[in-house]
Amino acid sequence: MNIEAARAALKKYFGYDAFRPMQAEIIEAIYAGKDALVLMPTGGGKSICFQIPAVTMEGVCVVVSPLIALMKDQVEALKANGIAADFINSSQSSSEQMQIENRLRSGELKLIYISPEKLLSSFFTSILSYCKVSLFAIDEAHCISSWGHDFRPEYAQMSLLKRQFPNIPVVALTATADRLTRKDVVDKLELVDPAIFVASFDRPNIYLDVRPGQQRLDQIVDFIKSRPDQSGIIYCLSRKTTEDVAAKLRAQNIQAGHYHAQTPTAERNKIQEAFINDRLQIVVATVAFGMGIDKSNVRWVIHYNLPKNIENYYQEIGRSGRDGTKAHALLFFSMADVMTYRDMLGKNESENKEIQLSKLEQMIQFAEARICRRRLLINYFSEHFDENCNNCDVCKNPPVYLDGTQIAQMALSAVARLKEQVGVQMLVDVLRGSNRSDLIENGYHNIKTYGVGRQYKPFDWNQYILQIIQLGYLEIAYEEKNQLRLTPASQQVLRDGKKVELIQPQSFKERKAEEELDKAARQRKRPEVSARERSRNELFDVLRDLRRTMALALGFPPYIIFSDATLEEMAAKAPTTESELLQISGVGEAKFRNYGDEFLKAIRNYVKDAPSLAGSGVTSREQIFRPFDETKPKAAAKTPGSTQIVTLEMFRKGMSPEEIAEERLLSESSIYNHLAQLYEKGEDVDISTFVKPDEIVRVTEFLALNEAPKLKEIFDYFSEEISYPKIRFAVAHYRRLGVKM
Ligand code: ADP
Ligand code: ZN
Repeated sequence: MNIEAARAALKKYFGYDAFRPMQAEIIEAIYAGKDALVLMPTGGGKSICFQIPAVTMEGVCVVVSPLIALMKDQVEALKANGIAADFINSSQSSSEQMQIENRLRSGELKLIYISPEKLLSSFFTSILSYCKVSLFAIDEAHCISSWGHDFRPEYAQMSLLKRQFPNIPVVALTATADRLTRKDVVDKLELVDPAIFVASFDRPNIYLDVRPGQQRLDQIVDFIKSRPDQSGIIYCLSRKTTEDVAAKLRAQNIQAGHYHAQTPTAERNKIQEAFINDRLQIVVATVAFGMGIDKSNVRWVIHYNLPKNIENYYQEIGRSGRDGTKAHALLFFSMADVMTYRDMLGKNESENKEIQLSKLEQMIQFAEARICRRRLLINYFSEHFDENCNNCDVCKNPPVYLDGTQIAQMALSAVARLKEQVGVQMLVDVLRGSNRSDLIENGYHNIKTYGVGRQYKPFDWNQYILQIIQLGYLEIAYEEKNQLRLTPASQQVLRDGKKVELIQPQSFKERKAEEELDKAARQRKRPEVSARERSRNELFDVLRDLRRTMALALGFPPYIIFSDATLEEMAAKAPTTESELLQISGVGEAKFRNYGDEFLKAIRNYVKDAPSLAGSGVTSREQIFRPFDETKPKAAAKTPGSTQIVTLEMFRKGMSPEEIAEERLLSESSIYNHLAQLYEKGEDVDISTFVKPDEIVRVTEFLALNEAPKLKEIFDYFSEEISYPKIRFAVAHYRRLGVKM
């Protein structure tokens, strides 16, 4: 066999044009009759490494897998690609098993999936003695190692394979990479001089994102609503939280189920089934959920709570984006979670408590990091990665530093004056001059620093204090009600005025406003691109609906028909002929024959109607979920007067308001007024240079709560901090969204 034949089979059966890194080398080793050990992350493409040899070599490939629940799906996926495959395990009746054995004897099967106990029963080995085996593939091979947490006793006797069939190559595959496990797998399987392949554990398609835990439910709702129909998993620490979060999402009309160890089995199966088949969009779960789920189109994973360690985190986010197309991993980080863990571990008497604590510490460091998260993550797994990834929150949004010396001094001095008797929340309240009753009862309002930090919002204070702790100027006494303590380093700041650099906090609302401005600016700059993008999204929705309907009729999960990656390519290229369709990655011969017509028909229909659809504005779904996407005015606005038009023309030529004012002999504030009026009426005016997102948020919050305020009232409310032109632009933005004042 040669690699060209393998490539042809990859195209014919799977519709893929090229091998991923390492796949070709692994296949070549197998063709050469060698044993092999393959370490690749989930979603890396391990299956192809034995499936291509299976279809190209003579005989049947025996795949040993401990996950009975997955066998059916995997076989279904192979059959959809026109490959003769089946499985055999204890879930089948004896007559079903017999039928499959007959097919095996007749030599028609190219792959047989089997559980380890079945393989080891002498009955089965006797069958194998009179049908030709091309290859043994041991999936989830780490289960053989007693070091790992997934140890399966049935795997232990697998050394029999090499003894009974010394001339048949064995390939062991796993996503667990540590050295001990690796060695154990080779030893226990008695592999002979195996070729060892270690692929990178990076999953570049997963966007890594960490956000402050405040208002996380609002953030989650917002996140989900901007991704209608995308499947996702929300991991929580406790069962109770899974139930609460799911209920709150449902109250917002979001389809969510909960899943934890105490959920009755029947209910658990139902939820899992519905999720796999795209009938349930979201599962809110404890770590109990996910093992044995092969769904390739999980588009995001949210950690509502901090995971215990990086290993768990990585495994859980790895359940998203297996199809290789864009996925999002969002982690919420809060001090409260850290306190909960500390508390739990404090009570825990187990001998590896120290290890658990240090792993938690590394998880916290990851969440607090200000350098590329992927670098940290991949380096954690002892793989060198020294470039910025450009696909994490830190790379996309580098932190903005400010001189926080005074802020730190306020906080530290308050802690000292409060005699180190309070936690974070009380400290914030004292600094902001709150009159909460226990604060007054304790006389904290009499200290000198009471109210000195009023100008910063509670959110900002929380973030500042968190950073001051991270920098080592404050400590939390976990054993004593989480009170804040000064550290030896505190004095350098308090007494010697040592400079403290802090990062400008950005709240959820500020971030959102900024994203919206960015997006609007992008759309203005490249309207033709955003129109194309919109129609691509629409076509994707059409194709996804078709996939779901077909899957329902066929009785298997939608992603088995075509992956999201394949649908995305179809939506982008809109193939209308058979040969164009065959060029799409993921469209092999069998799928082309079975589903091609339906998909071509849908695409042709869409393209026919597209001129009216493309650029026609938002779809109804977008209107429901993304009211702020389109900043066109809702009510028909009056056309701007001629003096504004003159200003606009000059502005578009690149003149600044100051220059325009000078040229037109008008006051600068009139020019700002013109521009604000134009913007309000839907003209293309880039206001982002005049007003910052957080200023817009602050003003619009005020507008939402106060009826028709005068500009001066707004100006006074913000203690003259926000200038009139800025207020004018923020009001224009508010009105442009169609909200009447
Ligand atoms: P693993 O078993 O390592 O978790 P899979 O074998 O399930 O990963 O592969 C993950 C996804 O990548 C599947 O959707 C698979 O079809 C796809 N894939 C694998 N190899 C290729 C390739 N060479 N080109 C395109 N897609 C591929
Ligand atoms: Zn990065």
